[in-house]
Amino acid sequence: MTESHLNAITSGDISTNQSHRGQTVIVTGAAGFIGSHTCEALLRRGDNVVAIDSFTRHYDPARKHANLASVQATADAIWRAAGPSAPKYTFLEADCRRADDLDRAFQIGATLSAGRPVRRMIHLAGRASVRAPVSEAPDYVAMNVVATTEILEACRRHGFGDTAGAGSPVVPATAQRTSISGDGLGMGQAHPIVGHLAMASSSSVYGGGPPGWDGPFHEDMTADRPLSVYAATKRATEVIAHAFARVSNLRVTCLRFFTVVGPRARPDLTPSIFGRAIWEGRPITRFGDGSMARDYTFVGDTVTGILASLDRFERANAGIVEPGGDYEIINLGNDRPISLSQYLETLAGLLDRTPVIKEVPVPPSEPHSTWADLSKARRLLAYAPTTPFEEALASFVEWYRATVLESPVPLS
Ligand code: NAD
Repeated sequence: MTESHLNAITSGDISTNQSHRGQTVIVTGAAGFIGSHTCEALLRRGDNVVAIDSFTRHYDPARKHANLASVQATADAIWRAAGPSAPKYTFLEADCRRADDLDRAFQIGATLSAGRPVRRMIHLAGRASVRAPVSEAPDYVAMNVVATTEILEACRRHGFGDTAGAGSPVVPATAQRTSISGDGLGMGQAHPIVGHLAMASSSSVYGGGPPGWDGPFHEDMTADRPLSVYAATKRATEVIAHAFARVSNLRVTCLRFFTVVGPRARPDLTPSIFGRAIWEGRPITRFGDGSMARDYTFVGDTVTGILASLDRFERANAGIVEPGGDYEIINLGNDRPISLSQYLETLAGLLDRTPVIKEVPVPPSEPHSTWADLSKARRLLAYAPTTPFEEALASFVEWYRATVLESPVPLS
């Protein structure tokens, strides 16, 4: 699968360009793996985008600049095709932990939509990975908990929790708060809340699941036994978001991503680590006997889910999906766990090499398996991932060979 295939997938069909023209969305973590694909999908459907990133050094910023170059190329191509009616795109180097940086993003966003305030935000910035040493816990708290709290506070400060008066330019006149959430947030409100934040969480919050559990993870399961500091910080952001939803009227959707795969995947993820080792004939450090499993999700499907979540109130009003509450947590996975053995076999086959495997004990930060129960995502988002694992991995390998393994100027 090539980038153009990916483009076709991430463009999605969840809305027409026309219905979004003029809406501005702020995307944090825009230079990252998922963020750059998300920006492109938003532009393709006609949304203006203010992209934010601070180029953290947890992996080579050159990769992030390359990702952003792809976003810029997409924006330019749309401009060439559509002219002045094309959606607008601005990149701002900014740190989500800084309130003044976020204020600047909101100001730029308003200028992109002819003075109308920004009412949509996708927060993907953060420090990922369950495998960092625990000594780096303070950095995880800063990059995930502090940054997300600043994002929530910026959304509150910029009116996301306000109720729309007559003639609100952002929320359709028919829109009503129609909460059915268990905690009753938003029940019976007469006026719609104007803003909506969709933010990245992670399947890691489930830890190992309930003792003895080998089935799919459902959003209602307890998630208070994280196996890594990363998972703990992601869960903390969900809980803080709930408090903002209650106290400040914010509408927030927390999206639990399950191991995302595809072009531009981070270098600390296993497709790169294993892919390079297999390519170079070095041994792969495999955790356990190969029976560990992950619910790998193609990045195009993840992005389609992110956009569907951003639109979920409008789509509920249009009768496309069931209305949810103002605060929801939703799994975005693939509902098809793949064992580590099967994964390695597929990867090695795509690289046309035989892997050399060195088995080591499973670290305590690793759950035995992850598996998304998608019933809620289907109900509230009409989310239905379409890309089989093999195709998702093939799209990664094609990109990885071209940009890293066989490139004359490889990305590190
Ligand atoms: P990524 O590291 O490629 O992207 C994150 C981006 O955020 C980076 O470009 C980084 O520079 C930026 N960033 C970090 N802190 C920032 C700050 N304070 N201000 C501005 N920018 C900042 O990661 P990704 O794989 O694209 O993941 C995106 C989100 O999804 C993360 O929150 C991650 O925890 C979550 N997630 C990812 C996966 C996955 O499989 N990739 C799975 C579960 C959850």
